Parts: sequence; C-alpha cells; structure tokens
Amino acid sequence: EAMIRLTGVGKTYDDGTVAVHELDLEIGRGELVVLVGPSGCGKSTTLKMINRLIEPTTGTIEINGEDVTTQDPVKLRRGIGYVIQQVGLFPHQKITANVMTVPLLYGESKATARERANHLLELVGLDPATYGDRYPHQLSGGQRQRVGVARALAADPPVLLMDEPFGAVDPVVRVRLQDEFLRLQRELGKTVVLVTHDIDEAVRMGDRVAIFATGGRLAQFATPAALLAH
Ligand code: ADP
Ligand code: ADP
Repeated sequence: EAMIRLTGVGKTYDDGTVAVHELDLEIGRGELVVLVGPSGCGKSTTLKMINRLIEPTTGTIEINGEDVTTQDPVKLRRGIGYVIQQVGLFPHQKITANVMTVPLLYGESKATARERANHLLELVGLDPATYGDRYPHQLSGGQRQRVGVARALAADPPVLLMDEPFGAVDPVVRVRLQDEFLRLQRELGKTVVLVTHDIDEAVRMGDRVAIFATGGRLAQFATPAALLAH
C-alpha cells in the first residue's frame, strides 16, 4: 500500500522554468526511496512539494491516501520530518535544547521533552551526557547532521524527507552516516524519501531508486539490483 503517491505532478516556476514534469511515483509504507540525478533536475522541488513548501502546478500528491492540499499544513508537517544539507541548529542553544524544541512546540512538558531528546540523541549515536550540553559549533559536521536527524525524528513522524543529508561531510564520515542511518531506518521503519546527486549513495541506500533526467522527468524507477543488471 502506498504511503506517498504522486500522480501527474508538475511544477513550472513563475519564470517559466519547468522543474518537474508529469511525475508519477508511488512509495510504499516503510520504504526508502532515493531520488537521484544531476543538479537542477527537480529533485529538491519534488521533495518540497511533498511537504507543501512548494505547490505543484499540476497533479496530485497523496500521503496515506489523503490529498495533501486538503490537509492542514501544520498537521501535515508534523507527520513529516525534514532534513537538509546544512542543518540549521539554533547556535545559542545547547544540543539537548535544540532537539527539545520540537516536543516543547507540541506541548510536551519540559521533563518529557528532555527525556525524549536524550533518547533521540542516543538513537543517532550521540551520547547525551557527553554532547547534550555542548553548543552546535562545538560539534563536528557529521555530529551536527546527526543532531539534525534527531530533531527531525522528534515528533515521531511516519515520513522522513532528506535533501542531501550527508552532502556536507567528508567521504569517510559520509559512508559511516549512511550505514548508521540504514541501521536506524531498519529499526524505526519510517517511510523515507532521500535526495542525492551521488549515484553510489543511491544504490547503497535505496530500496528503490528514482533516476531523474534533466527537465524534471523520471528516467527509471527500480531496485538497485535491477538498475545494476542493465
Ligand atoms: P535539484 O534538486 O535536482 O538540483 P531543483 O528542484 O532544485 O533541482 O531545481 C529544478 C529546476 O528548477 C532548476 O532548473 C532550478 O534552477 C529551478 N528552480 C528551483 N527553484 C526555483 C525557483 N524558486 N524559481 C525558479 N526556478 C527555480
Ligand atoms: P565526525 O566523524 O563525527 O565528523 P570529527 O572526526 O570531525 O567527527 O570530529 C572528531 C571529534 O572532534 C568529535 O568528538 C568532535 O566532538 C570533536 N570536535 C570537532 N570539532 C570540534 C570543535 N569545534 N570543538 C570541539 N570539539 C570538536
């Protein structure tokens, strides 16, 4: 059963740029789908249409069988974690406080929010006793990305959208973060849509890989095994 379904989705920006064209995509519950392709082929635009940061020009997007345009945007985004390349942590807040903001926003008590933040930091491999009281600038790039993932998971959303989440770290750290995330994903069973321009990352991580071509068209959508067989 599809968790996310795009039907005939297109996006033409105000200046006439066709970013996405007639896109059909069905993503199953608990599936990790990678959108891959050259820069400018419409991957980020697609991701932003799923969480309604951008409105499609044509077509429909459903999450859990419900048209996203009929859903309250605040409620919709609560069900969707969003991780971007340059995770924007609050620089003057300690790491634990950064992760606590989301549960606090949703009305949890301070004690519950703290407990939840500590649990999430452990999940992403950051010992809260060691790192919780540090500030973002006192962490490495890889560690900051992990905090970003922890914060995206804070509302326990069924869907995670990730735009080049490992793009800003060096290659060795990147592979480690990919592996760690895959392990976490197997444990949590989230539905994940991950954008990258790195085909190795796509093949390594995707249950299925959607290859975009220039002009926002879908060239292929298949399992890594099927793609490599061709
Ligand atoms: P990708 O994520 O694959 O790099 P994007 O979705 O960011 O691609 O962009 C797709 C196309 O849309 C590109 O040609 C880009 O220049 C264009 N584009 C992106 N955002 C805007 C915008 N706000 N206004 C006009 N064109 C845009
Ligand atoms: P990662 O592999 O997670 O990216 P690094 O190899 O970059 O980590 O960093 C190694 C260690 O150095 C980490 O434990 C991190 O906490 C520490 N570190 C990195 N940058 C800073 C900094 N600006 N201030 C204090 N400690 C730092």
